[in-house]
Amino acid sequence: MPTILTPAPADSPGLSDKFGRQATDLRISLIDKCNLRCTYCMPADGLAWLPKSKLLTLEEITRIVRIGVRDLGVRELRLTGGEPLVRVDLAQIIAAVRTEHPELPISLTTNGVGLAKKAAALAEAGLTRINVSLDTLHAETFAKLTRRDHIDSVFAGIDAALAADLLPVKINAVLMRGINDEQAPELLAWALERGLELRFIEQMPLDADHVWRKDNMVTAADLRAYLETRFRLSPDTKPRDGAPAERFLVSALADPDTILGAVGIIASVSEPFCADCKRTRITAEGKVMSCLFSREETDLSALLRDGSDDQAIAERWRAAMWGKPRAHGMDHTGLGSKDFVQSDRSMSAIGG
Ligand code: SAM
Repeated sequence: MPTILTPAPADSPGLSDKFGRQATDLRISLIDKCNLRCTYCMPADGLAWLPKSKLLTLEEITRIVRIGVRDLGVRELRLTGGEPLVRVDLAQIIAAVRTEHPELPISLTTNGVGLAKKAAALAEAGLTRINVSLDTLHAETFAKLTRRDHIDSVFAGIDAALAADLLPVKINAVLMRGINDEQAPELLAWALERGLELRFIEQMPLDADHVWRKDNMVTAADLRAYLETRFRLSPDTKPRDGAPAERFLVSALADPDTILGAVGIIASVSEPFCADCKRTRITAEGKVMSCLFSREETDLSALLRDGSDDQAIAERWRAAMWGKPRAHGMDHTGLGSKDFVQSDRSMSAIGG
């Protein structure tokens, strides 16, 4: 939906919004295509891909990052998709950004398919760290959730990320009731043994099939109950500082004094953290999305392609963020509430 933009006030810093937040965490989707078809994200088939001519180019991506970092207070960058490993110039994009911004933390969110062959080159190009999505340790459940048979490639990718020192390697997992929810404790045990930081993400209404239902999702409270059948969780007292995951220190029930590692829970639905949101998102075709659930988006690609100067791009980006809704694409929190309207974009078309 096109947005009527109100310019951000001249005295507001960077990517501020009306509710006093300032976005410093930039997420750019590099491509809408993906090689998995996770049921909570994409349809089995029938999703039209963006033509290559619409995707932001390497030069456009580096220009957006330059404007963000130099002029608008961006402090960290995450590259995502779709599936960013599908983008053939991924290492070149990372290298180009790294050359201009030696200190910028650059992370990647990937499903890990094919990562084994690429992890070392991505680290060499300047990638700081990586998140790999993995919801189960079982090939059968993996195939059910992702509609593809690639679990061994993901395991190999995680090993390669560890070997390439893309640390901390974080694992993102989404639980689906009756499919992998009961596997949560074994996934955590597996992650702890390998020094991986597991984060569970509550399933959000961002599925292309629009079948998400609040009363059928696994909540953070359900998850904690599953994990506490095997582990003791104690809240990490370190300040959260806008991080989406609430962290818990983990120990075995039988030996509560020995901390085995940490687990994160991203409770976007049941315990939203919109008031602390620091994120600004750019889709693969160059639209600013101020909120994952926003039904409004602001195009930067026309300005990137019509000779506009950096200041014009910065001001449009600032205006898009000034209009960021208070929560969940609305003025109040309430995913699944009567007045919540799910976006036409699936998570894969936004960039998670
Ligand atoms: N393809 C990459 C991957 O799988 O990590 C990057 C894009 S994917 C959209 C980013 C993250 O969003 C993944 O961890 C995925 O599990 C998560 N995700 C997708 N749809 C979701 C949903 N409806 N609710 C919660 N998380 C979701």
